[in-house]
Amino acid sequence: MPKRLAPCLLVLLLSFTLIAEPGPSHTASLHLPRAAFAAMQHINPERIRAHVRFLSHDLLEGRGTGQRGGDIAAEYIATEFALFGLQPAGHDGTYLQKVPLVGVTPLPETTFSLVPEHGATKELKPLDDYVAYNQTQQPESNVDAQIVYVGYGIVAPEYHWDDFKGVDVRGKVLLMLVNEPPSDDMNFFKGKALTYYGRWTYKYEEAARKGAAGVILVHQTAMASYPWEVVRNSNSGEKSFLALEGQPVLEVAAWVQLDVARQLALSAGQDLEKLMLDARSRDFHPVPLPVKLKAHMVSKIRHFESNNVVAMLRGSNPARKNEAVLYTAHYDHLGIRPDMPGDNIYNGADDNATGCGILLELARAFSLAAQRPARSVIFASVTAEEQGLLGSEYLGEHPPVPARKISLDLNYDDLPPLGVPEEVEVSGADRTTFYPAVQATAGEFRLAIRPDSHPEAGHYYRSDHFSLARVGIPSFSIGEGMKYKGHDLAWGFDRAEEYTAKHYHQPSDEYHADMDFTGDAVMARFGFALGWEAASLPRLIGWQKGDEFEAARLRSAARK
Ligand SMILES: [Zn+2]
Repeated sequence: MPKRLAPCLLVLLLSFTLIAEPGPSHTASLHLPRAAFAAMQHINPERIRAHVRFLSHDLLEGRGTGQRGGDIAAEYIATEFALFGLQPAGHDGTYLQKVPLVGVTPLPETTFSLVPEHGATKELKPLDDYVAYNQTQQPESNVDAQIVYVGYGIVAPEYHWDDFKGVDVRGKVLLMLVNEPPSDDMNFFKGKALTYYGRWTYKYEEAARKGAAGVILVHQTAMASYPWEVVRNSNSGEKSFLALEGQPVLEVAAWVQLDVARQLALSAGQDLEKLMLDARSRDFHPVPLPVKLKAHMVSKIRHFESNNVVAMLRGSNPARKNEAVLYTAHYDHLGIRPDMPGDNIYNGADDNATGCGILLELARAFSLAAQRPARSVIFASVTAEEQGLLGSEYLGEHPPVPARKISLDLNYDDLPPLGVPEEVEVSGADRTTFYPAVQATAGEFRLAIRPDSHPEAGHYYRSDHFSLARVGIPSFSIGEGMKYKGHDLAWGFDRAEEYTAKHYHQPSDEYHADMDFTGDAVMARFGFALGWEAASLPRLIGWQKGDEFEAARLRSAARK
């Protein structure tokens, strides 16, 4: 983290005494009862510091999922929950919710070749030409299937879009593009913003639902918004998945380089550029290619376990205490890499010991309140976020209170301790019926709402709140914006850029004594006020009409 000088000491001292700046100056206009306001004032930046310091200590070895350091972090958080007197909401009366995981490592015996009806077979080179995982979690499987080009591979009734047009793709391998049809029209795939339909995870899921044997995604730097190296690095070595629970999966979930796709099209007598353009039309129809994928998938399979840490504070209203508001923050990070020379511990101070420290202060403040909100409040520190939001996905599938009764999830992930924020980021809050309350509360805290600066990158789909949104729970993350007190906007952007370039997912994401946690405490208080209000409102929060998660909420409401 950037070195900070003495002036922030004064702020620290001020915030230590009573109220951090900025914050609500009086209770009248905040919809908080006196007891809630008093409880909120217990949130203390120095206690967040203490949690961050411990959780990112070298002794915790980077809190890797399935590693000893990760398990110690979980035990630490569970112990804190117990000390606050919160009710355990994990398995068998404990705070730990067991998350069954499976590690899959593709082995060198794997072969992957394109076999055209006419012409020579092309054997593809792993990592250079393609990456592929077998989602069935079996050590071996064989695929010998025709390839069908399905454009973007999207079925989106709300945009009157269906790339499959009723064509039966069971047992086929689907060649498809990442992202979604380009548009500037906010009513068509949200214009430039990425919707979930554009994410590669959606493409795999939709193909599996349709019974396909495999998917080959065409990688294009511009469309994916990241280079092949990123695909290559995140698809080599062991990758973790939730243990299967009967959902459809693919035998081959693959990406290929653009050039490989070009050759594949050519061997089928097609031109890739033309195929890509054709996919932009609503009238697009799947194109069966006279080429087969012949793959022998060999993987090492490792079953292991990690834990979400879940606690609950029961609501005060007999009718509403079976409903809840949820707070989440992942505790896992990238762990330790014993074979790596030099500093090989990924301490994850910013990412996400800060979120855990905030979550723990929220839990403590709620537990100290002289009066409780009507609904229950759940605190969940989830695992395996860095493995692909797996802990939160498991929590969404197995919530301690049915998803349809959870009014809101507020998530915290990576809140750099840089001082006093004058902005807050709540991307996705505007998708929910709660947004007017979020705006009003931000006003009370004298925080300007900073809009998502890269909606086309789809950040909303890359953090734990998304796992809860998928099961219909209105969800968003709370973060600091870019403008900090005493600095111009450029300073904030410089800090963010520096962090991304030098510390993000690096061993240097470490705790420093000169970090200023005032802002993390402000973000905690802001979330406390929102959560308390959501837990007290007469009605459950919903999605705005037409939002892509509205259907999931309705599905979950129908499940009595
Ligand atoms: Zn994170």
